[in-house]
Amino acid sequence: MAERPVSTALQDVLTRMKQASERAGRTQSVRLVAVSKTKPVEALQEAYDAGQRVFGENYVQEMLDKAPALPSDVQWHFIGHLQSNKVKAVVENVPNLAMVETVDSTKLADKLNRAVEVAGRTQPLAVMVQVNTSGEESKFGVEPGECVALAKHIVQSCPKLRLAGLMTIGMPDYSSRPENFECLADCRMKVAAELGMVPEHLELSMGMSGDFEQAIEMGSTNIRVGSTIFGARDYSKTRAKSPSPPPPQQ
Ligand SMILES: *Cc1c(COP(=O)(O)O)cnc(C)c1O
Repeated sequence: MAERPVSTALQDVLTRMKQASERAGRTQSVRLVAVSKTKPVEALQEAYDAGQRVFGENYVQEMLDKAPALPSDVQWHFIGHLQSNKVKAVVENVPNLAMVETVDSTKLADKLNRAVEVAGRTQPLAVMVQVNTSGEESKFGVEPGECVALAKHIVQSCPKLRLAGLMTIGMPDYSSRPENFECLADCRMKVAAELGMVPEHLELSMGMSGDFEQAIEMGSTNIRVGSTIFGARDYSKTRAKSPSPPPPQQ
């Protein structure tokens, strides 16, 4: 099956984003993070050539491999679970790391804060608090009841970080329900109230390929779309330099 060109798929997503914004009467612009995990640099370059500048990766090593191969005006968003021992590598080696969307502990916030300081970055690094909105057992993201404390820690104790907003994946299977989006918006209200901020000054990162239009209608300012732009992911070929033979049929 021939895959659609990345540029066509990208344009399609941008059109659907615009329509969803219009339906919801949104005035705030929505950022598209092109989630390029497992995809070769050529595919990212195609999206770049079509005008896309924000890319998301969820493995440190993959970001370290790809960042130098793409133009320096790319804005990289880290969207995976960030292990403390990888913080230094990603902050030091990806100068155009624009945001870490997945801060889920004070320990990680402190590590990032320190790494930004050591790396001598002039601008604070934008971060989001990742919230587990599914109510289900999950290793990643703070419980909704803990988001205020973490947000407060970032604002009050991490001068090298800038709290950009809140992020959620949704359900453990990476789908989302309206309740997940509502929960994240509710977290934002609480964080804003506690920190004396205007809620709209905090972003909501929610919505993926299957639900980004609904997420926009429910207030998302940052959607993370992978497979709809780049095609389905094939994990058997992750990071392969050249096309590998098809896996044996089961
Ligand atoms: C992979 C991933 C996405 C994109 O998923 P698609 O369904 O391919 O759009 C979004 N957010 C996170 C955190 C991801 O890991």
